[in-house]
Amino acid sequence: MATIGFIGLGNMGGPMAGNLAKAGHRVLGFDIVPDNAAAAAALGVAVAGSGADAVKDADVVVTMLPAGKHVLAVWGEVLGAAKPGTLFIDSSTIDVESARKAHAMAAAAGMASVDAPVSGGVGGAQGATLTFMCGGTDDAFARAKPVLEAMGRKIVHCGAAGAGQAAKICNNMLLGISMIGTCEAFVLAEKLGLSHEALFDVSSTSSGQCWSLTSYCPVPGPVPASPANRAYAPGFAAALMLKDLSLSQDAAAAAGAATPLGAHAAELYAAYAEAGFGGTDFSGIVEFLRAGLPKGVSR
Ligand code: NAD
Repeated sequence: MATIGFIGLGNMGGPMAGNLAKAGHRVLGFDIVPDNAAAAAALGVAVAGSGADAVKDADVVVTMLPAGKHVLAVWGEVLGAAKPGTLFIDSSTIDVESARKAHAMAAAAGMASVDAPVSGGVGGAQGATLTFMCGGTDDAFARAKPVLEAMGRKIVHCGAAGAGQAAKICNNMLLGISMIGTCEAFVLAEKLGLSHEALFDVSSTSSGQCWSLTSYCPVPGPVPASPANRAYAPGFAAALMLKDLSLSQDAAAAAGAATPLGAHAAELYAAYAEAGFGGTDFSGIVEFLRAGLPKGVSR
């Protein structure tokens, strides 16, 4: 079993660190918010006094932070405090450029590194059922895999440095677009006098079939476990979808990729969040579309 430094013990990081401890690893955690560190301590994580203290004896360091600037700042702070050859894993969702910078900083400090963003949300973090999308060398991935297996169910090596973040934002751009498309189909069905159940029965078994419809249906009824059945309590908050769509648009602009539907999805989620629904599940955008788009949002 390894000694693991874990920095960023929030909604995701806290339970992920707890699962590493549950699997028998020695986990030293750090968060700038003492209450978050205390919650992780209740899950078996030993609380360190600083990021440097959390990493100094570690074989592996995991970070789970809000955005690229936090990851670069934290790695910049702690890389010098770790033993040479320590494996650094960043599981935050961040921009591809920052992810590649973090890999370069780790290499310059003599460390191995993997970008390993996740899908599965807080439920997946608690239940150790996350999917990890990884970028890095074969050697670094081979070292990361058994550690990630204590926190997730599916661990995919997507390619070289930054490939995990690339997979994450491509997937979530597709999800944002498909959720809006699913919502639009239900709103149009309502206007045409077609029941939710009838549209679901047809589309779930025909060419309109997609995850947003069959696993996460945005109207109550057809999929009893979907957030639509509990007043759109998240789940996956609209603000996080907006974050991922914005990252996909930054990446598309930098890479020169045409993503017009991704751009429109980002615009719609920005308007939804601005209207006060950032904390609502992202499938709740069906109510926003049903009510008619606010002025300024293009059709
Ligand atoms: P969160 O805000 O709950 O947790 C982030 C934690 O990082 C906080 O506890 C914060 O105090 C801590 N932190 C910030 N700066 C720090 C520093 N310098 N040193 C130590 N700790 C620091 O966010 P979250 O929901 O846990 O998400 C974390 C990451 O995972 C984000 O990148 C997010 O996009 C991604 N993600 C979240 C979900 C989800 O459903 N919540 C799903 C998939 C991916």
